[in-house]
Amino acid sequence: MKTYQLGVMYGDGIGEEVVKATLDVLKAANQMNDLVKLDLEVLPMGLKAIDEFGHPLPEQTKEKLSKKDGWIMGPHDSAAYPDRFNEERNPSGELRHHFDLFANIRPAKSVKGIKSLVNDADLVIYRENTEGYYPDRNMYSGVGEWMVTPDVALSTGVFTRPAIERIARAAFEAAMTRHKQVTIVHKANVIRLGTGLFKEVCLEVAKEYPEVKVNDFHVDAMAAHLVKRISDFDIIVTENMFGDILSDLTGELVGGLGLSPAINANHTQAMAQAVHGSAPDIVGQDIANPVGVMLSTVMLLDWLGKKHQDNHLIDLAKKMEDAILSALEKGKTTPDLGGTESTESFAKVVINLLN
Ligand code: ATP
Repeated sequence: MKTYQLGVMYGDGIGEEVVKATLDVLKAANQMNDLVKLDLEVLPMGLKAIDEFGHPLPEQTKEKLSKKDGWIMGPHDSAAYPDRFNEERNPSGELRHHFDLFANIRPAKSVKGIKSLVNDADLVIYRENTEGYYPDRNMYSGVGEWMVTPDVALSTGVFTRPAIERIARAAFEAAMTRHKQVTIVHKANVIRLGTGLFKEVCLEVAKEYPEVKVNDFHVDAMAAHLVKRISDFDIIVTENMFGDILSDLTGELVGGLGLSPAINANHTQAMAQAVHGSAPDIVGQDIANPVGVMLSTVMLLDWLGKKHQDNHLIDLAKKMEDAILSALEKGKTTPDLGGTESTESFAKVVINLLN
């Protein structure tokens, strides 16, 4: 029986509640099968890590994560960290940078039983995660933003062929397992060199996948197309900031931030991290929706199962996903989706459905 080593970081705000609910489900699923085992280790990250170890992402956490197959990361409330951490990357940016988690994979799928602004959505955004318009991670050293005078700020955008090639290849590989359609999103009419290179390199990679239908849109037009005809899209590949914005849009269109899952992956490891933040306004009330983290964890297990060609792990992920979706279909939802379940009671519903 294969054992997978997983790290777990609760993080800040609602992290304590939604990650705990996810672990309850994960542990139940783990105990229910004897074909694959998950070894879980909780590691410090966030405000509690500052209190205990003097840093929101202690070195020992990074060191331990380097030996894991993957990990679950709760949200962080970096705005609440002491000023001395202002100049540093936040924990999520640092982990993406440190482990070169170059692909941020964010699906948006309509869920039966959930009221949403659109129907029949089933797409996945492949967001480049290491460069583009994120100056806290697009430099080898230092931060790519400068104040030239108190009234003049410069922010860099960085686009490199190798980084574009690998996210494009990940997107086309995914399209081959789905509906064989990739949409490249850029702004090459204005940002001709930077996002122009993004578009050109994606089109070059497309030649390796002649079966895949390819189209491309400017990011502003794409936002409108998503609102108007989301069901026409399968895989979307785009740079860092465009992907961040479009995935919040698609998440909200299919039912809300609390539902939106994601993983961040390199070629060997992946991190489950829901799209939502630490939601300080609802912390400690047991009303936060744990589905985003739960479905991110499902994505992590499925990704690991496919990477290790382990059908038992893929099955375990599917069982968890079915139980979560079935709970939602039965109207068992937290208040953000109009229901009356608490974070904890939603986890219990899912565990009963797993049984
Ligand atoms: P951050 O900067 O950490 O991303 P933010 O305030 O910009 O934080 P979120 O923390 O995602 O963004 O919260 C936005 C709002 O969405 C919150 O005020 C909260 O009401 C709601 N929200 C976010 N996540 C959830 C969730 N899991 N369950 C219920 N409501 C949520």
